[in-house]
Amino acid sequence: MRPFAYVKPADVEAAVRAAGEPGAKYLGGGTNLVDLMREGIERPDTVVDVTGLPLDGVETSPGGGLRIGALVRNSALAADRLVRARYPVVSQALLSGASGQLRNMATVGGNLLQRTRCPYFYDHASACNKREPGSGCDALEGFNRGCAILGVSGSCIAAHPSDMCVALAALDAVVEVRGPDGTRRVPLADLYRLPGDTPQVETTLAAADLITAVELPPAPIAANSRYRKVRDRASYAFALVSVAAALEVRDGTVTGVRLALGGVAPKPWRAREAERVLLGGPAHEAAFRRAAEAELAAATVREGNAFKTGLAVATITATLRDLNEGAAR
Ligand code: SF4
Repeated sequence: MRPFAYVKPADVEAAVRAAGEPGAKYLGGGTNLVDLMREGIERPDTVVDVTGLPLDGVETSPGGGLRIGALVRNSALAADRLVRARYPVVSQALLSGASGQLRNMATVGGNLLQRTRCPYFYDHASACNKREPGSGCDALEGFNRGCAILGVSGSCIAAHPSDMCVALAALDAVVEVRGPDGTRRVPLADLYRLPGDTPQVETTLAAADLITAVELPPAPIAANSRYRKVRDRASYAFALVSVAAALEVRDGTVTGVRLALGGVAPKPWRAREAERVLLGGPAHEAAFRRAAEAELAAATVREGNAFKTGLAVATITATLRDLNEGAAR
């Protein structure tokens, strides 16, 4: 590992100032950044350790939402009483990700900003536009079983690895960001960029921007929500396909639905087309399947990941069917 400076600021303002220096990088739980530094993919001159900042609370916000500090550990958030009662999809998503040890270290802010697990990204002998812009993409014709099928480009087909963020996408989460010019609120949908021709630029944040909190708006529909994850082995694996869903049904008609997908796109993917097809229509399995097929109609597949289209349709359908049965009880 190459040498770097280490600073641990006492407050948020000092952290933002320190991160504004060239070559600086924020450090939270370190469960992704330290790996990337060991591999020589991230090469910061200065590491700005934010773990001493007072950003580790979960509070009720006016109207019944939640404000979650960016340094809340993934394990603490999964176990939080309010999260489990009001937003079970968030707790389930967190518990399906990583190991207990990693969840004890990983923070909410770090989870939002973790980088792809595309194997070529970690392999210096491979061409990877995300690691080395302009070098090409070995995943296009290589091992792309885990790669994305929605929102991809000819430059990059990497999938976003987070489970938690899929649940947050379904819930219209808003990210609170402190930058050199003050605090602003960024809808999660506007936080991530699709790869296009610049897959190395993954978010709309500037280098000194510090995520300080995540807000979950009030969402009574989330009481009937679920996270379902399909992966190659039972635990400690990234999603091939995952679904975060919430459903509200009255008299056999879908009166509310939230749907987001993981493992299939470069960012947590809000399934707006499926939601549009479902809303106001009948709540039965054939309708759920039709909506899922409408969402996946835009898929661009490769030989190794073509199976994801059918898998996503089946997973969406099964998740909505389970929620519908729960809503009817
Ligand atoms: Fe790199 Fe993206 Fe291609 Fe993977 S899919 S090799 S991350 S450019």
